[in-house]
Amino acid sequence: MKVQRLTILGATGSIGVSTLDVVARHPDRFDVVALTGHRRIDILAEQCRRFKPRYAVVGSHDDAARLAAMLAGVGTEVLAGPGALCRVACLPEVDAVMAAIVGAAGLPPTLAAAQAGKRVLLANKEALVMAGSVFMNAVKQAGATLLPIDSEHNAVFQSLPAGFAGDYARHGVHRILLTASGGPFRRTALADLEKVTPEQACAHPNWSMGRKISVDSATMMNKGLEVIEARWLFDADPGQIDVVIHPQSVIHSLVQYVDGSVIAELGNPDMRTPIAHALAYPERIDAGVAPLDLFAVAQLNFERPDLERFPCLALAYRALRAGGNAPAVLNAANEVAVEAFLDGRLPFQRIAAVIAATLDAVPVAPADDLAAVLAADAAARVAAQGALP
Ligand code: NAD
Ligand code: MG
Repeated sequence: MKVQRLTILGATGSIGVSTLDVVARHPDRFDVVALTGHRRIDILAEQCRRFKPRYAVVGSHDDAARLAAMLAGVGTEVLAGPGALCRVACLPEVDAVMAAIVGAAGLPPTLAAAQAGKRVLLANKEALVMAGSVFMNAVKQAGATLLPIDSEHNAVFQSLPAGFAGDYARHGVHRILLTASGGPFRRTALADLEKVTPEQACAHPNWSMGRKISVDSATMMNKGLEVIEARWLFDADPGQIDVVIHPQSVIHSLVQYVDGSVIAELGNPDMRTPIAHALAYPERIDAGVAPLDLFAVAQLNFERPDLERFPCLALAYRALRAGGNAPAVLNAANEVAVEAFLDGRLPFQRIAAVIAATLDAVPVAPADDLAAVLAADAAARVAAQGALP
């Protein structure tokens, strides 16, 4: 077995920590070459002492100096800034890159890894939402391997036939069904949503995640971003992707075939399963996840999403159908609105309105290169700031 050499972008976050948990279970299989973290220098220092990477990357030069002092004698070279993120994403000695930075900041290094032909383990859905066509072209041109970490897309990947390359007719694939938990507010009275606090929005019933994706789950923008992510990963038409609310989060997604078969992937809601799947693919390794106990689950329920309760889901379909730069605009507006909500500057119920106003304000244009994507992102951030109270 060849040892796989890894860069983990966003090592200090929820996905990064789960990735290192799986890696630590298989010291013979994986070698950590680079770890990155933006602010939690203490956590990154601890990770560096344990995994002894060749490089660590932080956001600022001040933090780099602090981290280097904490790591005296460890043998890790400390770098800083966005350029260093791209550098460790395409080191010649690295085989696979876990893309687990949250938000648009993750796009440049994730794209760099694809352009360098790496095996890209994609958690950073925002990168694909913003730059779908640019990213997929880079993967194709460089011969990179793209493996989805998002639990729904990992489930779809596992439920599609081997060798599926977007040829729906040949493989008899009818449609993709993405499951959604419905988040913490699935049953909350609409009037009560006005007063929702960041703490309530971040308390997800089934999954433990970073704050931004937790708010996205509460608005269901997360599912909207995932519909766009599925469009690119599986070369699907918007009409071939449906969303099903499944509150138990045991079925992680499904694929319907023309003969009536439906194939799904099930498991406990623990991100170490898709992470281990992608890390070892096409082999299987222990992820540290408890076996699914169907008797304890007892029931699997399904509901149609309510677009009045979850207008963000409709906005994502709108951006997907508009095409071009619209998904990048949607994503940037959402990042601005979620940050404002988390800072107490925007009521939960106004998040969708800020995004809708931004989609109205920024004209749809082609987004066939990184410069066009970043220009749309920047214009949307200005428009979204202007739409805040
Ligand atoms: P998190 O907030 O816990 O961690 C984010 C990581 O990104 C941290 O390491 C942080 O230091 C780093 N980071 C933040 N801003 C940065 C910047 N400007 N520059 C460089 N690094 C920066 O987030 P998470 O929950 O681990 O999610 C990471 C990504 O994975 C997101 O795109 C999310 O949508 C996706 N994802 C997460 C889960 C989950 O269960 N947590 C599931 C599916 C997909
Ligand atoms: Mg998901």
